[in-house]
Amino acid sequence: MIQSNEAGWNFNNSYARLPDPFFEKVEPDPVIEPELVLFNKSLAESLGLDSKKLESREGADVFAGNEIPEGAFPIAQAYAGHQFGNFTMLGDGRAVLLGEQMTPSGERFDIQLKGSGRTPFSRGGDGRATLGPMLREYIISESIHALGIPTNRSLAVVTTGESVLRENELPGAVLTRVAPSHLRIGTFEYAAQWGGEEAIKTLADYAIKRHYPELQEKEDRYVKLFEEVIDRQAALIAKWQLVGFIHGVMNTDNMTISGETIDYGPCAFMNEYNPATVFSSIDVQGRYAYQNQPPIGQWNLARFGETLLPLFHENQEQAVELAQNAHSKYEELYRSHWLEGMRKKLGFQNEAAQDEPLIDDLLSIMKKHEADFTNTFRALSMDKPEDTPMNDTPEFKNWYNQWQARLDRQEALKTSSYERMKQSNPAVIPRNHLVEGALEAAVKDRDYSVMERLLEVLAEPYAYSSKHEEYTKLPPACDRPYRTFCGT
Ligand code: AMP
Ligand code: MG
Repeated sequence: MIQSNEAGWNFNNSYARLPDPFFEKVEPDPVIEPELVLFNKSLAESLGLDSKKLESREGADVFAGNEIPEGAFPIAQAYAGHQFGNFTMLGDGRAVLLGEQMTPSGERFDIQLKGSGRTPFSRGGDGRATLGPMLREYIISESIHALGIPTNRSLAVVTTGESVLRENELPGAVLTRVAPSHLRIGTFEYAAQWGGEEAIKTLADYAIKRHYPELQEKEDRYVKLFEEVIDRQAALIAKWQLVGFIHGVMNTDNMTISGETIDYGPCAFMNEYNPATVFSSIDVQGRYAYQNQPPIGQWNLARFGETLLPLFHENQEQAVELAQNAHSKYEELYRSHWLEGMRKKLGFQNEAAQDEPLIDDLLSIMKKHEADFTNTFRALSMDKPEDTPMNDTPEFKNWYNQWQARLDRQEALKTSSYERMKQSNPAVIPRNHLVEGALEAAVKDRDYSVMERLLEVLAEPYAYSSKHEEYTKLPPACDRPYRTFCGT
């Protein structure tokens, strides 16, 4: 058994001090033969953990749930959620929160094992996860982090030595996730449904203390909480849009109060720019298509606001008015976050009236010519318009001249604008064919070298290194239409 002080574990489990209904005490189910296949050393170090001690058989035991580090208090969290628009009771059906690690700098992070066995919330499920989707979540969440987008992180993947029955028998795995918390809109929906006003107040106070401590003394702190979450989610979703990330399953249980990306299931990055892009095999209506992410965010936030109504005002009408006021600001907030990001992507270092139509024009030309989203902005950042297949079209040429004229009109030197563009336009993203290639080598051949190389490249998305050139290539046409599946 690892001594917590040796490996650096330093748990302080505030969520488990909430009243009972918010969680169930549960132990992870031990697995037959844990083997550590991915380990995030730099993340471990930043959490105050001893990576040398953990990159070992002992570490594999902890990350598989076979050994509980000292100070941990494993629980499954209760939550509900609107899934594809329908309210459902959920909860951690295959995840266990080991506890909250306090880092040397005093930050608090949930350490959660995903795929660690059945819990009281498992319903018909087996509580397990398979290797491919856990590796996929590791790659994409770490890439999202490197892109500068708030997200939960991935600390480790262990294989369990057990097989998991899906359509076929697949190798089992456990992913260790790290997040500022796992408070979801669905956690509030759960409180509202089963605990009433007292439970909502307890949870809202907890969320404020954990994520928005500056609001604690404010008289209207619950309305402020709502406003802050609206702003953080608007900012988050704008960031997704700006890199072409499609979450795929924006149910309210997959939307955090902290404003971080969470629950990577059927997510993927768009290749050619098409606002209607959907990857998830179960999203037949396109509810969570690229273009729907911003409005769905707003819809989800309305569900959040509804749970908080009793805290806004004792008079229901006034409570609703306060909620609607806050909620109606979402669109403007989203648009301004998006516009700010788009200006950066195009090298605008000030604001000009014609920026919006210029941006919209580029997007519609890209759509018409099915231009690759990432590579178009990459080509512009490198001042290589000839690298985009649109370059020979009169409409793009016309747009390009207008854009150049816009850059000339600002005081900043063009070279500095291009440099700044490179900080906002990733040269490399986890393209679907790259991720699939890495997963296939790992799962089929137990060869992790492809994935390790990919992770290294994805850790520097803005490096524009010639060494990364091959990772910017487009997939063969047979890769489309790409389909993703829920994290089973
Ligand atoms: P997700 O699609 O990962 O957001 O999961 C939705 C809900 O289904 C959550 O309550 C999960 O805990 C639960 N769930 C997903 N897969 C399993 C499984 N294999 N066993 C038990 N519960 C699961
Ligand atoms: Mg989920």
